[in-house]
This record gives sequence, C-alpha cells and structure tokens, in this order.
Amino acid sequence: MLTNQNGSLGKQPPTVTIDQTTPYNCKSCGSKVFDVRFMLRKASKIQTGMDTDMVVPIQVYTCADCGQVAEDFLPNIPGLYGGTKQSDTTSNE
Ligand SMILES: [Zn+2]
Repeated sequence: MLTNQNGSLGKQPPTVTIDQTTPYNCKSCGSKVFDVRFMLRKASKIQTGMDTDMVVPIQVYTCADCGQVAEDFLPNIPGLYGGTKQSDTTSNE
C-alpha cells in the first residue's frame, strides 16, 4: 500500500540565531535600514491565455536612505535589474 505523506519530515531549514548572522549594509551609502518594495513583471495575455495581462510582483529590498536596490537579494532572474543602461535597443524614444 502506498501512503501519501504531505508535509512529512523532510529536510528542515537550519536554525540560525541572530548572533550567527552578519549585517548587510547598503552598497551605495552604507545604511543598514531597508524598505520592502516590489518590482512588477508583466506576463502577456497571449502567453498566459487569460483575458488580461498578468502582473507578477517580485519582492525586493531597497535602501531606506538612498533607495538603492539590495541586488544581493534579488531573485536570479536574467535581466531583472541592472544591465539595462539604455545601451541596448532603444525602443521608447
Ligand atoms: Zn543606501
């Protein structure tokens, strides 16, 4: 017989206490305080098959002082942030 085990005891995340962590400072101004913000990605309705375009929010951290995005904590999505210095195809001018 097969039993389905949802939420079984698998890998548990390592327990880390605060004193085992290291501080993270803004690379631009050195601030230690960050805001939680969202980048938005749009999925075309043609891709999703829905009636309207879909918005996909991606949580990011920005420096509370200068607004610099903490790039170290960005999800690994190619072209999500940076690298777009208007050097490639100019489409909106
Ligand atoms: Zn900053």
